[in-house]
Amino acid sequence: MAATLIDGNCLAADIRRRVRQRSEELASRGRKPRLAAVLIGATPAAEMYARRQSDACAEAAIGYELIKLPPDVPATEAIHIVEKLSADPAITGVMIHQPVPEHIDGASLLSAIHPAKDVEGVSAANLGYLLCGRPVNVPCTALAAMECIAWTKVTVRGAEAVVVGASEIVGKPAALLLSDMRATVTICRSATANLAEHTRRAAILVAAVGKPGFITADHVAEGAVVIDVGINRVTLPDGTKRTVGDVDFEAVSRKAGFITPVPGGVGPLTVAMLLRNTVDAAARLT
Ligand code: NAP
Repeated sequence: MAATLIDGNCLAADIRRRVRQRSEELASRGRKPRLAAVLIGATPAAEMYARRQSDACAEAAIGYELIKLPPDVPATEAIHIVEKLSADPAITGVMIHQPVPEHIDGASLLSAIHPAKDVEGVSAANLGYLLCGRPVNVPCTALAAMECIAWTKVTVRGAEAVVVGASEIVGKPAALLLSDMRATVTICRSATANLAEHTRRAAILVAAVGKPGFITADHVAEGAVVIDVGINRVTLPDGTKRTVGDVDFEAVSRKAGFITPVPGGVGPLTVAMLLRNTVDAAARLT
């Protein structure tokens, strides 16, 4: 039987509607959420992403400002600018477009944002708060994966969950969130032997690897919830380009119980989570 599709666009639209309502309500109390995004060394792709982000904020009644810095901005100056933004009472959230140029240490730059305003939830402080069970801002993509799982209404407590990938922004926080919900969590990494033996045990499988079609039907248990975080641009034999996930969607959707498509799954929800985090942060700062 074909898996039920988890429609990220539909879930995201609903969240964005609610974010807008909360944002307008906060604005009526003089606390309009406002996101400052720092872009160092703009590329056309990054500029386009920033424009989309600006549109998403406008739609959610969140103020937005893009701070563009030259690619050769000294690291100390970039940190100083981020600190100033973070200290500005009119700004309720700060984010930094990744990647930053090599001469800048990304982690130090993130640490210049106060944890309460780090709405991407990716600074060491926010990851630490999550680890300690006192989350402030939680990484958006991990939250997006959890929204997808919640929509299926499968019982997470006591379930076997396997996360493939252990990045700070996706795999590790997703594993922590599942563990906090009392799932039994296995994290698989590049050195994991016999990957399929682990993943086939999973009632909930999260793939965050960055390899197109890496998770095949052989890796998946019948009826599992499969969350595909991957976003990979591939060139098809006819030369056209396409975005695909880390999961072989065709084959796995015949075996899984639920599956997220790519595009249209975790991606749109990640954007919605950034907006929700921004409004939550503004509400906490009130
Ligand atoms: P990343 O930092 O490159 O991490 C990839 C992880 O996959 C690493 O932990 C790595 O293990 C693991 N891995 C690599 N090969 C493996 C293998 N053969 N078996 C098991 N694990 C393996 O990537 P990321 O930032 O987490 O992103 C992962 C994917 O999600 C990418 O496609 C990215 O574009 C996408 N993404 C999507 C969103 C969204 O909004 N949907 C947001 C962020 C990222 P080691 O650590 O042991 O090397």
